[in-house]
Order: sequence, then structure tokens, then C-alpha cells
Amino acid sequence: MNARSKTHYTACPHDCPSTCALEVEALEGGIIGTVRGSNENTYTAGVICSKVARYAERIHHPERLLQPLRRRGDKGGGSFEPISWDAALDEVAEAYLKAEQKHGAETVWPYYYAGTMGLVMRDGLNRLRHAKKYSGQHFTICTSLAYTGYLVGTGKLAGVDPREMAKADVVVIWGTNAASTQVNVMTHALRARRDRGAKIVVIDTYRNATARQADLFICVRPGTDSAVACAVMHVLFRDGHADRDYLARYTDCPEELEAHLESRTPAWASAISGVPVATIEDFARLIGEHRRSYFRLGYGFTRHRNGAISMHAASCIPAVTGAWAYEGGGAFYNNGAIYHWNRTLLDGLDVRDPSVRLLDQSRIGPVLCNDPIDLKDGPPVTALFVQSTNPMSVAPDLNLVQRGFARGDLFTCVHEQFMTETAAMADIVLPATMFMEHDDVYQGGGHQHILYGPKIIDPPGECRSNHEVVCALAKRLGAEHAGFDMTAKEVVDDLLQRSGWGDVETLARNKWIDCQPPFEEAHYVHGFGHADKRFHFKPDWAGVAPRGFFPTELLATMPALPDFWPTTEEANDEMPYRLVTAPARHFLNSSFNQSPTSLRREKCPQAMLHPDDAQRLGVKQGDKVLLGNHRGQVEIEVSITDGHQRGVVIVETLWANRHFKGGLGINVLTGADPGGPIGGAAFHDNRIWMRPLGVRAV
Ligand code: SF4
Repeated sequence: MNARSKTHYTACPHDCPSTCALEVEALEGGIIGTVRGSNENTYTAGVICSKVARYAERIHHPERLLQPLRRRGDKGGGSFEPISWDAALDEVAEAYLKAEQKHGAETVWPYYYAGTMGLVMRDGLNRLRHAKKYSGQHFTICTSLAYTGYLVGTGKLAGVDPREMAKADVVVIWGTNAASTQVNVMTHALRARRDRGAKIVVIDTYRNATARQADLFICVRPGTDSAVACAVMHVLFRDGHADRDYLARYTDCPEELEAHLESRTPAWASAISGVPVATIEDFARLIGEHRRSYFRLGYGFTRHRNGAISMHAASCIPAVTGAWAYEGGGAFYNNGAIYHWNRTLLDGLDVRDPSVRLLDQSRIGPVLCNDPIDLKDGPPVTALFVQSTNPMSVAPDLNLVQRGFARGDLFTCVHEQFMTETAAMADIVLPATMFMEHDDVYQGGGHQHILYGPKIIDPPGECRSNHEVVCALAKRLGAEHAGFDMTAKEVVDDLLQRSGWGDVETLARNKWIDCQPPFEEAHYVHGFGHADKRFHFKPDWAGVAPRGFFPTELLATMPALPDFWPTTEEANDEMPYRLVTAPARHFLNSSFNQSPTSLRREKCPQAMLHPDDAQRLGVKQGDKVLLGNHRGQVEIEVSITDGHQRGVVIVETLWANRHFKGGLGINVLTGADPGGPIGGAAFHDNRIWMRPLGVRAV
């Protein structure tokens, strides 16, 4: 650092459970220099991923949107003209008021997600939604399938301190490619190996960067994790590794579980999952012989139609061994519940009308194509306001999404940092700030810190923050709420004070708050989160809210006890392959897929094929193939790798649509049909066919 630079402290805002504590060097002229992980923060521990370390590339990218734009010509035609902020906001407000007059308030759908994880910038749009009684959003992408599976067992969305991984004898990393997507998990897992000789077990659908660091890699067929979990528990009971005292004291129906698992043998699981019997036995023995077994359960469970069942089954294992009782033992998925936020002002909960309909985020395609079931028999969506997400790239069943966005009677405003695929379909595009250009507060989903993220540099051009835009629109729309008259920093202060976390000035001084609950609470020593204080092997699937997003007849088929639930989109004669659309190391959903270094390192979209499948198709490394199913098709280059099972195809992504010949990306192949019990898209659970194109890529 030189005399003309200054170090600031903030948090990474991206959709990643690590929520790293950052040190940012601000140079003269509003330029960002080095971005480092904070050594002082005990979870970040000085480590961040390479894509954020080179953030200057993103924040000073020449393609940043810098001024409001109005569409010229056809929708999606790519032609826009600059307009003033006042003209843009007036036009948007007028369109929403007109739509509301014609169809009622529910015709307007504010749609957002996790492009920023700052609570004010991400969730402030809910205040406008509630004040105006616009349609609600059921948040299902990447979350609902996993958290319901975890929650029905423990009764609370919280678990063992992730730093305790370093005190484990076995670290099980299940359903997350942590080395690529939440790098700090590896920091703490590798400490356990270095300091205690711990074994690292990785369970995933392909030999990814995390699996390459494992002592034992268990490669499952997509969506079969619950079968492996059941067989592991079968062996634990069979071989005397179940902690019967713990089971009697802390769980709901251990005898019933043991009897049920008698037929769930390793041979049974092997036939379903493709995992060798010996591997299942080895894994079970490792867990059985080490009480300090830490289960780090990831977001991969959300990518299968039966993901909730699989997450629940995996989370049952430490309850069988009693690992929860030991330091370094137990399970962790997300710490959402430890922050006990009072979101009244942030979300405008005091003006929320619970009778307003909720629309499923994952089903934006069917919603925009006027499916009456998805619209809850209400009015069509004729006005959209999109912040912090890019559904024209990231949403499933992309052909349908595209058809919906192209509707002539749909008015769309997109507030964005780049001209994304979604912004390109808009009537009005507004330029948005990035995290170092506004104030916000962050919570670590994958750890236990509240972190402050102050404004560090001025935004470029005419960029405005999500909060500023929501407040400016509220005024024009006649929406009233105290939160619309406050600065972002004042909203942070209100949130902290209402929730018992002090005030914003104290947080800004201290940089973060370590909110880790004591050992007894995190390990459920005084009982689990349910009213009966027990871990539930037998969940109440039908009781999970919100209801009405998963067909009742399928809900009734959810297994009462941990089991394999064959609701995955299985291969058939016509579509004999299973497609997994896994996260690429240098992208984060569709963020970073315009950064030059990320693009260079990822090279081009590729389909990873098993050598036997490649031979059967007669394709070689670098050839082109067509992947297709009943939803659409994409052309892609072949990469031959043997780190996954035959019949499984892996495409690491999300590449921008422009990299694909037809102009739409890999999500044309993924389905929007909901997983149980409350919905959620299954991005790794798609049957496809493959055809060689006989063209070698250059
Ligand atoms: S690991 Fe995740 S939280 Fe940390 S810097 Fe990278 S994207 Fe951000």
C-alpha cells in the first residue's frame, strides 16, 4: 500500500455462503486496487477466491451500464437510447400504475434474487411490493429443496460452528464443490487434516476440484444420495456404531428407523447410486469409528427433485452416531436462524397483506406464459421489475422464459450492472451500483458473522443503488413507508437495533459481529429445534410451508422415513443420459461471466462425457455434440473425462447465452417442474439425448 491508497473493510456480496470479510485497497481517482481476505476474521482466515481477488476487473469493466436506457425497436433487438433518470422513473411508474388500473395490483411482479446478498439492497424491494400489494415471490432457486430437508430433521436452520471442522476426525463434504464455490470450507477442513490427520470425504456427482482433494471420493449418480445415506445408517446399526443412548434421548423414533433400514443394505444402495458396496462400507466404518464426524452439507441437494429427502437422509447420520454431542461432530448447512433478524422495516412487514398471491420464482417461464395454475387463477403478470438477478440466463426451462419475456403486453424494467440477457429484453434499463459503491449489511450463511459493507468509492456514470431506485419509484407510485425516507445506512441501523445487534456505527467500527451461539445451542445439547426437542427421523413433510407449490398427489408419496424417493428425471430409451449443470469455478451463476480473466480460464462451454459414452457416440475430445430433450437443445464442445459415472454428462456453467449457437444457454435443458415438498428447480436432474455433429471445434 502506498501513501495514496487506503484500506477499507467490507464483505463479499456475491451469492456464496462464504460471505468473505474483505480488505479493499482504494487508490486515487476512485480506483480499486488489491482485494484480500481478512486475516482477522476467523472464518475467512485470509482466504478468498480468485474471482473476487481480481474485482477491479469487474467493478471497472468497460461494459458497465452507466445511464438509464429506453428500448428502441423490437423487444430483445438490442437497440436502446439514453434517457434521464427522471424520464426513466416516470415512464416505469406510469406503466405500473396503468397495469395496476387495468388488472389490479397483483399484475405487477417485483422479481429479485441474490445478485447482491446485502440485506438492504437485496430485500428492500419487498417493502415496495408490500406497500403496493404487488405479487409476492416464493424464493425457490438454490434454497427450498435443501433447507426444508435440513429443517425437518433439526427443527432449526442452524448447526455446528463451521470453524469446528478443524477439530473433526472426519470431514464429510456432501453436495458442494467447496474448492470452487465456497473456498473457506476447504481452509477449515484442511486444517483438520493437517493438525489431526482427519480424513476428508467428498460426495458428489463428479470428480471436481473438491473431490480431487479428498481421501475418499464417493461418486453418486445424480439424485441418489439418500440411498447412500440409508445404507450408511444400515451399516451403523448393523455393526454396533449407533449410539443408542443418544438415540433414545434425542431422536423421535430410533427403533422404527432401525427396522426400516434393515432392507436398505449397501447392495440395495449400490444398485441405485452406482457406488460400489465396498465404498459404502468403508465410508460407514469411517463414520462409525469416529464420533467427531462433521457433515458439511451443501447446496447441491437443491439441484434434484428429491433433494429435500436426500438432505434429510444425510443429516440423519450424525443423529444415529450421536456425533452432535462431540466438538467437531454434527452437521451444518446454513446459519440463517442464528441472526434472529427483525425485518419489519427492511421488508415492510407492517404493511404486508398475507392474502396477496405468491408466485414461484423458479417457474417464471410458466408464470410469464400465463399458466393459470402458476398465476393462482389471478391476473396475468403484465409488469415486471427485476433487480439483482438474470432469469433470462439462470432460470430453468429457458425457452419458456424467453417466450414470456418476449410478450408484447409485458412491460419490463431491469435495474442492472451490465447489459445482461434479461436487461436486453427490457423496456427500460437502469444502471446499478456494485457493492463498494453503496452501504449495506451482510450475514454469513455459511458461517456466523454479521458484516458491514460501507460505500468505498463513488459509482461510475449515473449508477444508483437498489435502495435509491426503490425509494424513488415508491414516491412516484404513491407508496408510503418510513423506510422510503431513510438512507441505506439508516435502514441498516434500524435492522441492527430492532434485532438486538447494536447500531451501525458500532458495527462499522468493529467491522463484524461474531454471532456464534454457544456449544450447547449449536450442538443441540438441550434438545433440537422442534417442540418435542428431538431430531426427527420421521418428518412432517405435509406440514412444511408455504403449501400449494407442489402437487398434493406427489406430496403424499414422500417417504415417511429416510429413503430413496424415485422422483428424479430418470434416463429412458429416448433420452438415455442425465445432465448436471454444475457451477464453474470462475463464474458465480451469471456474475463474472463477462470478466476477461474468468472467460480466459473457463475457455468455452464444454460437456464432460465419460470415455465409454464418448466411444459409443463416436466422438473425440473437442468434437461438437447436440444435447437435447423435450425442452430444447444446445450445441456444445466435448471434453472426455472419467471422473463421473457412465450415462452422466456434466456441463460447468453459467456461460452467457451468446456463447451458444441458438442464442440461449444450457438452461433450455433444465426443468422448472417443482421438487417436493414446497417447490424448487432441479438443475442437476435432467434427462437428455446426445447427437454427434461431426464437426471438430476450433
Ligand atoms: S469465496 Fe465466495 S464469499 Fe469469498 S470472495 Fe469468493 S465469492 Fe465472495
